[in-house]
Amino acid sequence: MASGADLIAQFAAITGEQHALTDTALIAPYLRDWRGAYTGASRLVLRPGSIAEVSAILALAQDTRTHIVPQGGNTGLVGGSIPDESGNAVIVSMSRMASIRALDPVGNTVVVEAGCTLQTLREAALAADRLFPLALASGGTCQIGGNLATNAGGIAALSHGVARDLCLGLEVVLPGGAVINGLRTLKKDNRGYDLKNLFIGSEGTLGIITAASLKLAPKPKGRALTWIGVASPAAAMALFHRLHSDAGSALTAFELCSARAVDFAVRHGGFRAPLAGRHEWWVLAERISAYSVEEAETALGSSVLAAIDDGLAEDAVIAGNGAQALAFMGLREAMSDAQKPEGLSIKHDISVPVAAIAEFIARAEPLVELAAPGARVVCFGHMGDGNLHFNVSQPKGGDAAAFKARSGEVSAAVHALVAELGGSFSAEHGIGRMKRELLASTHDPASLALMRTLKAAIDPYGIMNPGKVL
Ligand SMILES: Cc1cc2nc3c(=O)[nH]c(=O)nc-3n(C[C@H](O)[C@H](O)[C@H](O)COP(=O)(O)OP(=O)(O)OC[C@H]3O[C@@H](n4cnc5c(N)ncnc54)[C@H](O)[C@@H]3O)c2cc1C
Repeated sequence: MASGADLIAQFAAITGEQHALTDTALIAPYLRDWRGAYTGASRLVLRPGSIAEVSAILALAQDTRTHIVPQGGNTGLVGGSIPDESGNAVIVSMSRMASIRALDPVGNTVVVEAGCTLQTLREAALAADRLFPLALASGGTCQIGGNLATNAGGIAALSHGVARDLCLGLEVVLPGGAVINGLRTLKKDNRGYDLKNLFIGSEGTLGIITAASLKLAPKPKGRALTWIGVASPAAAMALFHRLHSDAGSALTAFELCSARAVDFAVRHGGFRAPLAGRHEWWVLAERISAYSVEEAETALGSSVLAAIDDGLAEDAVIAGNGAQALAFMGLREAMSDAQKPEGLSIKHDISVPVAAIAEFIARAEPLVELAAPGARVVCFGHMGDGNLHFNVSQPKGGDAAAFKARSGEVSAAVHALVAELGGSFSAEHGIGRMKRELLASTHDPASLALMRTLKAAIDPYGIMNPGKVL
């Protein structure tokens, strides 16, 4: 921070001292990411309660060249919300700006402040007989501002799109304090450049999102969930083609999970395996109905039965009631955290064209074995979007340090294959601190140069989330 106690006092005067945390014990949770992979330092966490306060913070920050790290629910998986170790940055936590300003069930729009959690917004939409379709396992903690800043994807992106597709407009405070008031709820609006898309996915490096206008959908009258055992990723692809053809946009999730990912979630998440028999691969699929639960179940059931008859799937079970549906989804959502007790793991959040999923898995597994013999691939993710979490856990009972030493080689092999197949090494989690060098060394030079030009134009003193993305 530019200069010690005086500057802290000036910032604290903006929010009021009760919302300016300086006590190390109170600050500690803001300095460590969800996975414990990144820790940083800071002497001040500000918790503004209004857009005027955010504007005053960014005006003072620019005047004093103070670095700012915006933070939402701190569930990001690439270290984007954690300051560096210098202690020079101020964290701006958006948790107090959490109100839903307006919800229009006729126009299917909602205007919500950045600090509102995803779950709170989803519940408010359901109470108005609407659906806010973004669905992440971190929904109880992550915030709408963070979802937009990372362009989050999640389980329902297959039919409803990612955060970007659900956003109509943004209110953003720029470095220096100027406010962009773009909270439009219009579906059609072609007045000049679409600025909101600059800030979506910018991971706090261009400004602070304070509110958003978002799309809602009618609440489906029924949904049906199924776990399906399949023999291979190739079979899963054929099954996806079948279910998608049958349901169209009513197929709202198609998740592929390896037997190991299911085993870990059963072992460490307290869930039951979906079926008694052993299957090498599993699919979790959801179909919705505009009419009724029965219609959703019948339609999904007949598609799945036909797929089994045709040899595309081995066995299946459809959730018989709400509690079972929760358990089905819970098993899938537990997969990320269930890797922790198995030791060190290397994460890859990749996407490839959907048609290349089976080839990717078939070629990536031997590459991992070559780079780190005995390592355990734990693969699960949003197959319908071509997005897999191709994670790698250390060998059972193996040496964590030796495994860690191989991590660069493992990731380089996986990412080289992803590039060969025309994919992305950052599908839905962003760049943050984790993938900054990778972006710089692999991305198209003209795109990188334009990103740097835009960053310099909007944030000329580089105060916004330095060391992230670029
Ligand atoms: C169990 C679990 C499951 C997950 N599943 C998914 C998934 O399925 N799909 C998916 O996409 N992600 C997933 N994530 C990752 C994470 O939840 C998302 O990236 C989420 O969008 C981050 O929101 P957040 O509020 O926690 O943001 P944070 O972690 O606080 O911040 C993330 C980034 O956004 C910036 N930021 C935060 N708020 C603002 C703001 N108001 N203005 C400007 N910048 C801001 C931060 O500076 C940082 O760079 C998962 C995470 C966990 C722990």
